[in-house]
Amino acid sequence: MMETISVLGSTGSVGRQSMAVAKKLGIKVSAIAAFSNIELMEQQAREVKPKIAAVFNEDAAAELRLRLADTDTKVLSGMDGLIEAAREESAQCVITAVSGAVGLRPTLAAIEAKKRIGLANKETLVCAGRLVMGEARRRGAEIVPVDSEHSAIFQSLAGRRAELRSVILTASGGPFRGWTREQTRCVTPQMAVKHPNWSMGAKISVDSATMMNKGLEFIEAMHLFSVSPDEIQVLIHPESVVHSAVEFIDGAVIAQLGVPDMALPIQYALTWPERRAPGSERLSLAKYAELTFFEPNLEQTPCLALAMEAARRGGTAPAILNAANEVAVHKFLRGEIGYNEIYGCVDSALSSIYYTDDAGLDAVLAADRAARIHVEEAF
Ligand code: NDP
Ligand code: MG
Repeated sequence: MMETISVLGSTGSVGRQSMAVAKKLGIKVSAIAAFSNIELMEQQAREVKPKIAAVFNEDAAAELRLRLADTDTKVLSGMDGLIEAAREESAQCVITAVSGAVGLRPTLAAIEAKKRIGLANKETLVCAGRLVMGEARRRGAEIVPVDSEHSAIFQSLAGRRAELRSVILTASGGPFRGWTREQTRCVTPQMAVKHPNWSMGAKISVDSATMMNKGLEFIEAMHLFSVSPDEIQVLIHPESVVHSAVEFIDGAVIAQLGVPDMALPIQYALTWPERRAPGSERLSLAKYAELTFFEPNLEQTPCLALAMEAARRGGTAPAILNAANEVAVHKFLRGEIGYNEIYGCVDSALSSIYYTDDAGLDAVLAADRAARIHVEEAF
């Protein structure tokens, strides 16, 4: 089990749960990082006494530095601070729980330092999966997924990649499952951030509603498990009990089941290959009269369809998709565009931005930047 970890995005939904899991398991936290929530960072810093607290926003960092002047915690800022938090020497594992592609460079830095990555920040794998997985292999850094579906696949696969036939990625379908495009036209940010089964940050909640989240997870699975788009099947499973499954070459299908709670996948990333109590609450299968599964209607979930298309195109297409979606979701949350326009923004970026097969860091960062500017200016 890991003895010391860093948590990037410590003030967010996964980050706060990671801090709680670490406390329960008696794991030290040597670095924390967030964007600007210094109220919570101060509390966290006073509680776990990290060596580094990195605040992306410069003004907030300056304020936290004053507030923590009586402690031994070093307060850093900007991307350099985030990268230093990711490299902090005493941590053996970095939980990447920042939201968005901003997690890419710190994740690469942690890989370079040969840390285990507890990977929640799926946007990093979506925009630069080939690069990140290649670096991890080259450096011998372990990547253990925290995203619940991918943790389920990782647990079910148990290292037997050579015997894998396909991956079954389950999806709750979100709060607007079965709604037509006409019905979703009036969806407000408040409606979209309320997920029926999971409590999450605003961005991923909107992604879950549009099903873009499943599209991002589709691309994440391709990279984590080296599978092609044809080897992944997405199934809607409204009960969110089967967290995902794998099909082996002999026809056996092995799944991981549990209550919808991130505590277990977070904990497993820290204890793997071992299992520890308590994890999450116990699942009582008898409480479920039935478990249902059906294929998604791609016409009703055009964001999922777009992501699958970008996955097939490869190169910088997923980076364009991801960046356009990030900007569109934030615009929607600020009330600047309608819910259905999120799809329009991403579609427009994918068809307008220069695309290349090269998926190296420079090409990915350029595609990411171009897509952000495109959506900011065109919508
Ligand atoms: P939240 O919005 O709740 O939290 C985001 C965290 O990232 C906050 O700590 C925020 O800091 C920090 N952050 C944002 N931008 C920056 C930046 N530029 N520099 C440093 N820190 C930054 O998100 P979630 O916890 O819901 O999600 C985090 C990641 O985990 C996402 O990639 C998501 O897809 C993935 N994930 C989440 C799940 C969930 O259950 N929530 C499940 C599976 C995956 P601040 O608070 O200061 O703004
Ligand atoms: Mg997930």
